[in-house]
Amino acid sequence: MDKSNENNQKQEQKTPANKTPRARKPNPYRQNNKPNPNKKASPKQEVNGNVKEKEGEKDRKPNPNNPHKKPNPNNRANTNKANPHKKPNPNAKTNQNRSNNRSNKPHGGGNRNKRKNVTTVNDAMRASMEENARVKDATMNPWKQIDISAQAKIRFTPLGGLGEIGGNMAVLETETTAIIIDVGMSFPDETMHGVDILVPDFSYLHTLKDKKVFVIITHGHEDHIGAMPYLFKELKFPIYATPLALAMIENKFNEHGLKADTKYFNFVTLRKQYQIGDLKIEWMHNTHSIIDACSLAIETEAGTIIHTADFKVDHTPVDNYTMDLHRYAYYGARGVLCLFSDSTNSHNPGFTKSEKVVGKTFDTLFNLAKGRVIMSTFSSNVHRIFQAMERAVTHGRKICVIGRSMERNIETNRALGFVDIPDKHFIEVHEVPKYADHEILVVTTGSQGETMAALNRMATDEHRHIKLKPSDTVIISASAIPGNEASVSGLMNKLIKAGVTVRYKEFADIHVSGHAAQEEQKLILRLIQPKFFLPVHGEYNHIAKHAKTAVECGVDERNILLMSDGDQIELSTKYLKKVKTVKSGKTYIDNQNNMTIENDVVLDRQKLAEDGIINVVAQISQSNQKIIGKPVITTHGLVAEKELKKFQKDIELLIETLLLNMKPEALKNHKDIENDIRNTIRKHVIRTKKRYPLIIPTIFIV
Ligand SMILES: [Zn+2]
Repeated sequence: MDKSNENNQKQEQKTPANKTPRARKPNPYRQNNKPNPNKKASPKQEVNGNVKEKEGEKDRKPNPNNPHKKPNPNNRANTNKANPHKKPNPNAKTNQNRSNNRSNKPHGGGNRNKRKNVTTVNDAMRASMEENARVKDATMNPWKQIDISAQAKIRFTPLGGLGEIGGNMAVLETETTAIIIDVGMSFPDETMHGVDILVPDFSYLHTLKDKKVFVIITHGHEDHIGAMPYLFKELKFPIYATPLALAMIENKFNEHGLKADTKYFNFVTLRKQYQIGDLKIEWMHNTHSIIDACSLAIETEAGTIIHTADFKVDHTPVDNYTMDLHRYAYYGARGVLCLFSDSTNSHNPGFTKSEKVVGKTFDTLFNLAKGRVIMSTFSSNVHRIFQAMERAVTHGRKICVIGRSMERNIETNRALGFVDIPDKHFIEVHEVPKYADHEILVVTTGSQGETMAALNRMATDEHRHIKLKPSDTVIISASAIPGNEASVSGLMNKLIKAGVTVRYKEFADIHVSGHAAQEEQKLILRLIQPKFFLPVHGEYNHIAKHAKTAVECGVDERNILLMSDGDQIELSTKYLKKVKTVKSGKTYIDNQNNMTIENDVVLDRQKLAEDGIINVVAQISQSNQKIIGKPVITTHGLVAEKELKKFQKDIELLIETLLLNMKPEALKNHKDIENDIRNTIRKHVIRTKKRYPLIIPTIFIV
């Protein structure tokens, strides 16, 4: 009996989202490939187990086609057990040919004769088929090797990166160990005034005190390491990552005055297992839009967990180091308890194109360019930048790198040997005028239309060194990250106004994604064929789509959970369930001073921006419950200048009426009066203007 089925039934009761699991079409991988008794045999279904069963009875009679064959006494008792001593019957095929030949003869009709004409399934063939069915079942369900008597429980808590794109952070825990997988930042929306970046709420991490805690980094993208300095200002743990990711974290630590914290660094080597607390972790090389990106294989007492992290399956990456699919296959074949996989592009059918196709586009664009080429992309996409630089070298162009993050990333990647281009090809920005226009490639930041970035400053003629000319070609080798569409469009407007040739989306392969599309997601699902599946990295619609793809690839839908940030999932060999919700959210950061902005400050800014402000300053006489003199009423962002007088009069009347109706003892506390005045004004403004301004009364009682 399939024990996992039993477990799934138990789980079913705990998971109300799956109300009618039994009504689903049966999953062939859960059935142990047992014959279907409802299925009718037909001459074409010789390989169907049902025919096999019937023919089996017949076969106990001597087989006229194979007189050497003896009936197999094990035949019925052991449908699924293979006879290891049995060899395939070399005559089987000949028999089949013979019967096919005979069936062409128009000899006499009864059922009995017809049956003779179909392939005779003999014992050897049956044994082979049974063994193949068993092997196929084992191949398609390698997780059945997991020892389900293991009592260990794993908890997984995403604290960022679900219900959003970016800001990835999650905690995986055993009884004694906790690993924080990635510590990423994300970007604010347009309502978060003055906020530059968002970092995940670290509250939950403070509760892990009793465990051994480690930080595990998959790759160096901002949405995976960007919040590291903010974490280390609160809590410090040993960090494990590949060299480039750690070098990028080091740059951040230096910027934030955390130089000493590089002592927490542990450089990992690929294809090696690290004992981290009571977990064994291997970093597996993958392909993504940054060098040195990895997936994780985490061995726990409950079984192996594979976390793809961000990936695509690029068979022709720029550095020729493809994703380590062999390690995926290795772990998959041994049986994986749970797979976490990147859902960013789960709506995209097919395969994501190889990074190399961008190089081909660059060939075309460099051939077309008459003057300077100015190329902008994400500063972390070093393979993209490298491909542009290679073209510059072939076309005899000097390379000038502009923009703080771009300069720093190129420097780091050159130091690590990832960008192998000699010094003589690089020039400083002040040297650009020394060369003819067709001898220049500028590589710069600002592909997202960031106002402070070099490209935007060039477009608005504010850049100290680079003044755009109509002969310039500007290549924007990126797509707008969701939320940045308007600023990218704004940048395009400025560049086109400046008269340059802009190369953007009209060349389809000017940019390719770094994330897996459906066929790549399927490849990983099939290589791992896990018992449980947790789609990660993406908004709800992305993970829901990825879950559908997983079901198509044989994962039981009852073994998939769609998570949100703050959900805590418990995972054992037998079940997967949500156990509680922990505090999650975002902390606002002002990049000018690298400081936190409190929530109420951001809320006030939102109010001010959307609904304006009303200030009331008044002196009140306690004896006659009247305003002394005239109150000072000012307002911004709410009423037009020409309506101001009337508005002030209305407010004044409201306050007067309120005061006269108050009980004398209520007039003792100025805070209470301020509250009453605030409420009265609020009601009036909602009624007359449908707005919710910030209202600040200041009352003096005389
Ligand atoms: Zn990434």
